[in-house]
Amino acid sequence: MTTVAAYAAPAAKAPLERTTIERRAVREFDVLIDIRFAGICHSDIHQVHEGWGEAIFPMVPGHEIAGIVSEVGPGVTKFQVGDRVGVGCMVDSCRECDNCKAGLEQYCTGGNVGTYNAVGKDGEPTYGGYAEKIVVDENFVVTIPEGLALDEAAPLLCAGITTYSPLKHWNAGPGKKVAILGMGGLGHMGVKIAHALGAEVTVLSQSLRKQDDGLKLGADHYYATSDEATFKELAGTFDLILSTVSAPLNLDAYLSLLKTDGAFVNVGAPEEPVALNLFSVIGGRKTLAGSGIGGIQETQEMLDFCAEHGFGAEIELIRADEINEAYERVLASDVRYRFVIDTATI
Ligand SMILES: [Zn+2]
Ligand SMILES: [Zn+2]
Repeated sequence: MTTVAAYAAPAAKAPLERTTIERRAVREFDVLIDIRFAGICHSDIHQVHEGWGEAIFPMVPGHEIAGIVSEVGPGVTKFQVGDRVGVGCMVDSCRECDNCKAGLEQYCTGGNVGTYNAVGKDGEPTYGGYAEKIVVDENFVVTIPEGLALDEAAPLLCAGITTYSPLKHWNAGPGKKVAILGMGGLGHMGVKIAHALGAEVTVLSQSLRKQDDGLKLGADHYYATSDEATFKELAGTFDLILSTVSAPLNLDAYLSLLKTDGAFVNVGAPEEPVALNLFSVIGGRKTLAGSGIGGIQETQEMLDFCAEHGFGAEIELIRADEINEAYERVLASDVRYRFVIDTATI
């Protein structure tokens, strides 16, 4: 066991504070990672606040982890000491079910093991990336390509893959009209990736406050959803709408913006159920779908894609003692576009 410094919420809704946690000794297939940067995801806040149900405390959040390998177990073949690596939202799965075998570990039928706020196969709670080090099985570690700065790469491990996976699955590309709903941590990655895939990209955001950024990141059009005229003008326009919003939405209004056979795909996770008039999908044979992160192989593919196209996330680098303030600012949508913790300040 190794004792490492970390930032943890001691109880639900409590502010995070500096503490120490134990990391397991490196096992045969484990990689010890010196964490350099950890992104702050909105879901960290949902879980600290128990918005998604009962949680495990103390909680060390963080599932957007970038660092350097500092030790490997004797059975490790994928990594060497000194490699630049990342860890995302899961650190294990059953590895035997159809989904795991198909590279869809995120949909493991036995449930994957979350990077934090979960219990590992050894019965111990998992602790995330707001820490100096982490020990992870090599099969749940990915390579961060040269050319991607580690701090800008960290948010790709959740925000990047969460938008990349559905954009690929629903064939965002040349000739397709794609709307990204919400211009936050997930949304800004959705814009960059959809643009790099060759789609015609529209941002649908509450206001035009971030319009300049959206157009700079690759959007072709930018509309305010607070303006009712937007819904009239864009009726029947899109092949795909990717919703990154985690607040309740008027789904019927957004479904009206799809073409026939269009899909509305949700990656934001509201804490409350939402209402829907099913005629909104019957007319136009529309699809209402969801998508969760991506598999390990696809996460590697996404990192390689971002490196090839020369972009990471837009970030604001913060010290560990600014985490609580950063949470307040995320809740106020006051971040452009992802807070990343410099873990050297823990
Ligand atoms: Zn996340
Ligand atoms: Zn499985």
